[in-house]
Amino acid sequence: MKQTTLKKSISASGVGLHTGVEVNVTLRPAPENTGYIFVRTDLDNFEIPASVEYISHCSYATTLMRRGVVLSTCEHLLSALRGSGVDNCFIDLDNIEVPIMDGSSENFIDLIEQAGIVEQNSPRHVFRILERVVFEQGDRKMSIEPAKNFEIECVIDFPHPFIERQQLNFIFENGSFGKEIASARTFGFTHEIEMLRKANLALGGSLDNAIVLTPDGMLNETPLRFDDEFVRHKILDIIGDFALLGMPVEGKIIATKSGHSVHASLMSKLLKAEHAWEIVEQAG
Ligand SMILES: [Zn+2]
Repeated sequence: MKQTTLKKSISASGVGLHTGVEVNVTLRPAPENTGYIFVRTDLDNFEIPASVEYISHCSYATTLMRRGVVLSTCEHLLSALRGSGVDNCFIDLDNIEVPIMDGSSENFIDLIEQAGIVEQNSPRHVFRILERVVFEQGDRKMSIEPAKNFEIECVIDFPHPFIERQQLNFIFENGSFGKEIASARTFGFTHEIEMLRKANLALGGSLDNAIVLTPDGMLNETPLRFDDEFVRHKILDIIGDFALLGMPVEGKIIATKSGHSVHASLMSKLLKAEHAWEIVEQAG
């Protein structure tokens, strides 16, 4: 298998979920072995590679920081790139946060499809798991273990009539991301949103870009996109966060009540356990 990039550049605009800022994003073709690099066009084209080493904090969204320059809420766009099988891409942004679009990865998938994907000359590398690594924090648990494909088994549990316990086993195969995961939207609870706003977060949040849950229902008037849209979105987030490893993963993730900070902790534990993985050319 060869590495891929976009056939041409493509742009969109939107608003940042947490900062509420207007932002333009352009996805550009990138050379082999680039991975994903965010480029702050408003700051002299300062580059922040999408890499575990630049994770800054992970409350409510994954934020990267390099030399004091911040880039927030990168996970849904990275999920779309990884989910589309794009290996190399420059992501130009003229503000601090990736636009939230409709709260899922669907708009980004559409952009990538419009741009088209081309094969490059170098072989694609994968991050192959050789030994199980586990991270646990209270009742949150996440592990990664050897498997032939990229696979995610995810359980979430929220005391809400629309959610309760949801479990899904997702196998990353040709087209499965677009069909089963990409359109699942982010969600929040009304009681949480008040608190977030007080902390200057969720300023761009609206019913156009999130499912907003009241104690016994939801504010959105349009129906859920899947009965289990919530666990699907959690898988979307996991794929986006694990894109920070820099290449496709060959292994199985099992996640119970995980979140961005658990994802980040498992990745850093994994990277330190050098016997637990290897980087190899993808077969096929
Ligand atoms: Zn998300």
